[in-house]
Amino acid sequence: MTTGTHTATEIRLATLPSGVSLTTTVHTYEGPEDGPTLYIQAAQHGREVNGTEVLRRFHGRLPLESLSGTVIAVPVANPLTFDRVSYTTPEVLDSANPNMNRVWPGDETGSLHQRMAATCWRYVERADAVVDLHTGSPDMLPHVVYREGDRASRRLAKAFGAELLLAEPAHDEAADEWHQRGFSGKFRVAASQAGVPAITPELAHNKQILEDVVEDGVDGLCTVLRALGMLPGDVPEREHTTARNHLGRVIATQSGLFRAAPGLRVGQYVSSGTEVGSIYDPTTYECVHDAVTDHEGILYALRKEATVTAGAKLASVALPRDRDGSEREHERERE
Ligand SMILES: [Zn+2]
Repeated sequence: MTTGTHTATEIRLATLPSGVSLTTTVHTYEGPEDGPTLYIQAAQHGREVNGTEVLRRFHGRLPLESLSGTVIAVPVANPLTFDRVSYTTPEVLDSANPNMNRVWPGDETGSLHQRMAATCWRYVERADAVVDLHTGSPDMLPHVVYREGDRASRRLAKAFGAELLLAEPAHDEAADEWHQRGFSGKFRVAASQAGVPAITPELAHNKQILEDVVEDGVDGLCTVLRALGMLPGDVPEREHTTARNHLGRVIATQSGLFRAAPGLRVGQYVSSGTEVGSIYDPTTYECVHDAVTDHEGILYALRKEATVTAGAKLASVALPRDRDGSEREHERERE
């Protein structure tokens, strides 16, 4: 009787100007029983290290003998940003697309990021579902993003188990800003467009390994495998709130030093007009912006770095669809 196999393979993502190969490691777990293929990647944005740590622990806990199907995992999808502890790659290496998460499904003859993405996309083409692990900037509430109206993706998002699910409109349904910011080239959006259910867990914030969040991430992945029938066991019914992102952002109108409102915490429900914090001129002490929310909803991101430039994002509020965790959003689903 076979117990399943694990292989770790080094693949070449691209070639750097010096001739050095940019490589990464792909882990493949084959269960003894046939089943779906799940592709998981982390650290497209290399400073977002919680996803990488989730995959290391997942590797130690996956009961290979019980697996039906194949899991393919890439813990460091973008070594360039990983080494720089950054979000984007230096312009000198990819001036056209400094953000890897805007180029999917990639292009084998394109820019550096497009080539790297095209290499990883080969795994997506044979996948039945994909998970793209990310984190936000300090301070962010863990949540899972999926494409609004994509029922199969929503099912995976619910299985992952975060309390907050963010439904992101795409393509014709999306606002102008969504198009202007190149969001159609996000990995999750491209996969959903290609008919592969896709979720983006945002595992709190970057640069630090956050124990609770990483543990929730490992549990979330195992539950996604159960939802896909790849591991035995039930998917527990969990409370969650579905909300929409991108609409409730609070933006700095002036530059200066930002002091977040004392006592304000991510995860709390805020009404419209809630004080988020104040921006001061550090030389004159004059208050130049009293920042308040313009939507009610769940505060899911709050800026921690104090030095801000006008136009910077201070906070994000998600607009609830179903505060009680009910399934009203299904009425809107079209697929
Ligand atoms: Zn990211």
